[in-house]
Amino acid sequence: MILLVSDLHLQEERPDITRAFLDFLGGRARGAEALYILGDFFEVWIGDDATSPFQDSIAQALKALAEQGTRLYLMHGNRDFLIGQRFCRAAGCTLLADPSVVNLGGEPVLLMHGDLLCTRDERYQKMRRILRNPVVLWMLKHLPVATRRRLARKLRNESRQQTRMKASDIVDVTPDEVAQCMARHGTHTLVHGHTHRPAIHHLLVEGQAARRIVLGDWDQQGWVLEVGANGWHLDPFDLAPAP
Ligand code: MN
Repeated sequence: MILLVSDLHLQEERPDITRAFLDFLGGRARGAEALYILGDFFEVWIGDDATSPFQDSIAQALKALAEQGTRLYLMHGNRDFLIGQRFCRAAGCTLLADPSVVNLGGEPVLLMHGDLLCTRDERYQKMRRILRNPVVLWMLKHLPVATRRRLARKLRNESRQQTRMKASDIVDVTPDEVAQCMARHGTHTLVHGHTHRPAIHHLLVEGQAARRIVLGDWDQQGWVLEVGANGWHLDPFDLAPAP
C-alpha cells in the first residue's frame, strides 16, 4: 500500500492537524510501503538551520516511520521550498523534485505540488521563478534568521491578500497546461495538491483517457490517496477534535 498526502500546512497554531498527522503516522501509515508528501507540509519554513522544537518533533515522528521500513518522499510546496537535506536526513525522507514521475500501482504517475500548473496567475509564476532561482535560493538561505522570518511573514500576507482579489479560476490549474505536462512526461495519471480542491478529474491526453487526482488540504478534515490491492482511493477523514 502506498499513501499520498499534501498541504497539511503543519503549524503550532493547529494542534488538531498535528495530532491527526501523528495519529496517521502511527495508524494508517504503519506498514505502508511508501508515503509521499506533495508539498506545503509545513505552513512556513525559513531554513533547516532555524527549525523550532515543534518542527524537530515532526522530523522525529517521520523518522520513526522510516525506521520501520516505510519509504518517505517529500516534495517542496510554495510555503516550504526552503526545506533542505538537513531536515530530510533528520526525518529519514528523500526530497523529490517537482515534477517527478514514479511508478505507482503498476503505472508511471506524474507527481507535482500543483502550483506550476496554475499558469494563468502570471504574477505568481514570475515570483516563483525568482524565488526558485539557485542564486536567490542560496542568498535566502544565508540571510539572518530574523530577516528570513520577516520576509516569510511579508510573502504570506501578500499571498493572502492577492488570493482574495484573484478570480477563482486563476488560482486553479490551467487545463491546457495539465494536458501538455502529462503528455510531455508520458503519463495518464497526475496527482497534485496546492489548489485545495480535492477531486478526481477525467480528461483526454493526446486522445487517450487520463485522470488528474487532486489531494485536499488538511483543514476541516484530512485527505489521503491510497494506492493498493483494492485500487485507488481518495478519502477524506475526520481530524480528532481539539482538546
Ligand atoms: Mn501550495
